[in-house]
Amino acid sequence: MASLFSPPLHRQRHQFIIDFVKRDKPKKVVDLGCSKCCLIKNLRFHREIELLVGVDINLAKVTKKMHELAPLSTEYLQPRCSPLSIELYQGSVTEKDARLRGFDLLTSVELIEHLPLADVERFSEVVFGYMTPVSVIISTPNSEFNPLLPGLTGFRHSDHKFEWTRAEFQSWAMKVCEEFGYEVQFTGVGQAPPVQQERVGFCSQIAVFQRRGGRLGLNVQSSDDPNQVFSYKLLYSVTYPSLRDNNILRRVLVCEVLYWAEKLKRGWMEKKTDGGDETYTLSKTLSKRRFGFENMHERLEPDMDRTCEEETKTSAGRCEGAASEDEEGVYEEAFWTDSGGQETKQRRYVSCVPLALLCSSCPKVSSLSGSLTNLRHLLLDEPSVTLTQDGSAVRLMDKEQEQEEADNDDLEDSGYTEMSHCSLGAVQEEDWEADL
Ligand code: SAM
Repeated sequence: MASLFSPPLHRQRHQFIIDFVKRDKPKKVVDLGCSKCCLIKNLRFHREIELLVGVDINLAKVTKKMHELAPLSTEYLQPRCSPLSIELYQGSVTEKDARLRGFDLLTSVELIEHLPLADVERFSEVVFGYMTPVSVIISTPNSEFNPLLPGLTGFRHSDHKFEWTRAEFQSWAMKVCEEFGYEVQFTGVGQAPPVQQERVGFCSQIAVFQRRGGRLGLNVQSSDDPNQVFSYKLLYSVTYPSLRDNNILRRVLVCEVLYWAEKLKRGWMEKKTDGGDETYTLSKTLSKRRFGFENMHERLEPDMDRTCEEETKTSAGRCEGAASEDEEGVYEEAFWTDSGGQETKQRRYVSCVPLALLCSSCPKVSSLSGSLTNLRHLLLDEPSVTLTQDGSAVRLMDKEQEQEEADNDDLEDSGYTEMSHCSLGAVQEEDWEADL
């Protein structure tokens, strides 16, 4: 039969649901009779959906490929904005389970014809009377189409308990609507040749139900109701990485911030090497983490007792931590290092990239953080990002210098420099306190 239709009939049925999802944007979707979870596999790429649930009575079918529902590595690289959880249950659609109440969309693709007629009654009561989803899509074979299927005698599948004509399907659907407060429209997939279309209808007939009153008027039991029923067995559950998870949000944000800060810095450096720019001023540093002591005292200028705060008020000097949101650029910074008891003056380039500038240059940074205050907050304890002391800008050192310092820090960690600097460390600690 597959060769009769292009695309194959099962794909057309799933495509019908995917198109509905694109239009209607349901957040919670349950697929009854999910079998090997083909539809769920497709639906997980639709980013509006936040909860996807599959139910089937057949354990072997569900478990066969359920691990393919685990997030792909790309989901970690580009996490979704909204969350997604997938849950698979073993259970019968004739039984109630409180976890399936209040969904936006319930699908049941080629399932009801596998139920004895008495169970179809129970199915109607469970789906429309208890689960009360906003929308329901049910597909089932249209027996009027069967004479067009080559070589078919009897039902299309040995497990089918019945196959309905269009009138039979519609009669059942209308009764359900009347009883449980729904409206229904009929359509289908798998077209007959044009001359026979009207006479035989679609190969798979589809009913699309909408609850009267739509999303309003839901009467779902609260989760602490003692009469709740849990008859399904949870087989599989997975949560996809999403930006709603603060750790993931922070990781993505940090990548963006570092990328854009480096990009802006490179632009400034290029300008600088192209002929100098008066905005790049000589800066003095008050702190330098090196060789096991926190901060070297400023010794570059004669007026060495000025505090960091005072220094920012002067026109020429800047110090680490002094950049504010309207101060950006690359600064030459001088600092002292101690090597074997000999203090040496060195210089390096430091860039200060204001967070406000990052927000305005990169829409993703702005949308991920939501506000400048949030951005600052999210970056505060982030080890890979150094903020200026007032937290208004990202501070970037020249990469090679950074590496060199990291190497020296490693030496320090190995104990190599410990002996010669342990006493000096205490003195410097006091100096730093004074500067603050
Ligand atoms: N919906 C699937 C799809 O679109 O690929 C195919 C469904 S398959 C034809 C019918 C499924 O219904 C089977 O996986 C079967 O195990 C399941 N099923 C039959 N009776 C059921 C019941 N009472 N409760 C839940 N699932 C049932």
